[in-house]
Amino acid sequence: MEASAKIRSHTYVVVLVFLATLAAFGYYANSVRNTVRNDTMLAFQQQIRVIDTATQSRLALYESILRGGAGLTATDKSMTQTDWQTYFASFNFTKEFPEVEGVGFDRYVPAAQLPAFLQEMQAQNPNFSIMPSGDRDTYVPNTYLAKYPATDQLTGYDGYTDPVRRVAMNKAASTGMPTMSGYVAMQGGISSSPSSFIIYLPVYNSGASLHTPAQRQAALYGFVSLAVDVNKFVTSLVQQNPNANFGLSWHDNQKPMDGNAVYRTGNFTALSNQPGSIKQSIPFTLYQHNWEVTAVAGPNVVPASERDRPLNTIFWGLLASIVLAGVVWLLISSREFLLNRQKQLEVQSAKDDLLSLASHQLRTPATVVKQYVGMLLQGYGGELTQKQTGMLKHAYDSNERQLQIINQLLYVARLDAGRITLHKEKTDIRELLEQVFHEQMVESRQRHQKLFYRQPKKAVSAEVDPQYFHMAIDNLVSNAIKYTPEKGSITLSTQKTDEAVLVSIEDNGIGIDAERQKIIFDKFTRLENEMAADVSGSGIGLYLTDQIINLHGGYIEVESTPGKGSTFTVHLPFKTTKPTTDETA
Ligand code: ADP
Repeated sequence: MEASAKIRSHTYVVVLVFLATLAAFGYYANSVRNTVRNDTMLAFQQQIRVIDTATQSRLALYESILRGGAGLTATDKSMTQTDWQTYFASFNFTKEFPEVEGVGFDRYVPAAQLPAFLQEMQAQNPNFSIMPSGDRDTYVPNTYLAKYPATDQLTGYDGYTDPVRRVAMNKAASTGMPTMSGYVAMQGGISSSPSSFIIYLPVYNSGASLHTPAQRQAALYGFVSLAVDVNKFVTSLVQQNPNANFGLSWHDNQKPMDGNAVYRTGNFTALSNQPGSIKQSIPFTLYQHNWEVTAVAGPNVVPASERDRPLNTIFWGLLASIVLAGVVWLLISSREFLLNRQKQLEVQSAKDDLLSLASHQLRTPATVVKQYVGMLLQGYGGELTQKQTGMLKHAYDSNERQLQIINQLLYVARLDAGRITLHKEKTDIRELLEQVFHEQMVESRQRHQKLFYRQPKKAVSAEVDPQYFHMAIDNLVSNAIKYTPEKGSITLSTQKTDEAVLVSIEDNGIGIDAERQKIIFDKFTRLENEMAADVSGSGIGLYLTDQIINLHGGYIEVESTPGKGSTFTVHLPFKTTKPTTDETA
């Protein structure tokens, strides 16, 4: 597969993994969001239930208070206002029921009975009069009154003149059930706040039959009434379970909703405006009157930690997706890398095998050629003419070069297979250089060059494998001769410093530019230059030399200027930094 196509397919896989992980987390985050939403709803409904329960239990208490009053009026018709107040004083309304404005008794008086009624009342209280005055068919004036706080305890107010109260009284009378009025905006009688509701409990003449509405209307004696301040009522309910994140708005359902709330908790508007708040309107009937409560829960009704869970899930999901995609990318890349590496090793091994095989096969016939040509030159095949001798010498030299290259190839094959073992011993480097100098003298003379050996005065010795080290220096001197034109000069020298033994081969030949100095030690590298065509070479001499010096724990330094010459310096540090390979042949 082409490299770019491979990268593309890897990218697809990684993107797919990323998207799949993200989708899984997204799905999970959505279910978390639903759970949180359900939790919010549950918390909200829980709040509503709490308020509902509190309302019901409060109203049950009111009903028993009303029934107490009803019992009192039914049993004692000669009761006075003071008796009434004394009876209700025991309930301690101001402390126990601060929302209760008062409890009263309103007598049902058809117009025909009015004179008798007035006479009865004025006998108890000469100042008694009905308010408002005027001729009506029916009067329902208040006769007993206990107000809290105990101001303006004036009886005589006819609540039947207020349409809101009248509706409740009529319903109570005909059903016989406690009945709640809508909120009364009109003050008078027991109601003293601008928004109250009154609960009426009808009282009938004892012994009368009460099966039908008509029978109940005919037997009506009056109503025990209890007025409640809506504000205080709702506040007392909410206060039983104070929650800053929960608000209420209380409406009389008989009236339009346009801002006509009887009561609103202080946080209602702010909570309604908060994004993420939940609102629900619940119509309900209390003592035959329809109300509507709108409840609002702010987003903080569930704790922030819970609320942030979907977002946190998304965040961690994104992070996990990136990490997972990264890991997949790394796995794919490292697998790719390992496969490439394996391939390289296989190719290298095949090359090495081929190299080794080829050089072994070439060496034997080339050696046989050398032997026979040598024998001919030595006269074993009979006397030779001068021309024949000259031709055979050429053949001998070519064969010699061929064998040199084959030998180098063999070394490279062994080296790459890790089958070169150094046998190091303390070696006199001064003497070793002298040998090389004498061996290369013939070659340099043939090229009309001057070969110098700047022999040190003191002996220089180092721990080297004499055979391989000789081969390395020989290669460097041979190169210096090859790449230095006729009449040039080559100088060998050696010295011992504090850290290393140095061997230098300096020539004033063609030189190598800085860029190409970097590649001359690579295997099979021959540079294009004016002498390359004239001199034989395989491009492996420097590779082999460098490897041998490395095996000795040393390195080769090159200083060269094109057209001026080169100096190759072998450094053999005393403290070896690179361990020598110690393997078997
Ligand atoms: P070769 O068999 O070609 O000599 P080497 O590995 O010995 O191969 O050398 C690699 C190349 O380095 C040579 O082809 C030559 O161009 C360059 N080279 C090596 N020694 C010298 C030198 N002393 N002066 C200039 N060039 C050199």
